[in-house]
Amino acid sequence: MFFFKRFVLSSIIRYYTLNIFTIAGMAELVDARDSKSRGGDTLSVRVRLSVPKNNDKGSAMETADCIFCKIIARQLPVEIVAKNDEVLVIKDIAPKAPVHYLIIPKKHITGISSLEQADIPIVGEMLLMVKKLAKGLSGSQAFRLIVNDGPDAGQSVFHLHFHFLSGKKMLDF
Ligand SMILES: [Zn+2]
Repeated sequence: MFFFKRFVLSSIIRYYTLNIFTIAGMAELVDARDSKSRGGDTLSVRVRLSVPKNNDKGSAMETADCIFCKIIARQLPVEIVAKNDEVLVIKDIAPKAPVHYLIIPKKHITGISSLEQADIPIVGEMLLMVKKLAKGLSGSQAFRLIVNDGPDAGQSVFHLHFHFLSGKKMLDF
């Protein structure tokens, strides 16, 4: 009877311990053993902590408050300049030149500094979009491309984007 109570208690503790972590999305179960299998009274639970990566596609923790993810999900109405399967282009709301577009990957990537090898095709699509936008320009078709990475460089939305500027002489750099 004593053993039975102890077994039930350890099972309850194990149930809640695992669920607290796994429901919070902080860990995944690796191994769990109860006292019965080892003849002792120590509960053994092994979990692997899982820290969300910056560019996990569809990671709710990373994208819930991201204004660009909301735009891509059409939760915010904006004028779309161009788009394809990987990339969206919108106008900057505070333009620094007559033409000021933002080229945004549909996948949530925090910035250049968090790029991974698997993201390279997406960046390639972004650059091909730049070329397409440039061909659509009138006049000299000259443009400037800017990427800010980190708050000290002026990045204010932490979802990778290129600033595409044109329509005036920019000889100050
Ligand atoms: Zn995002």
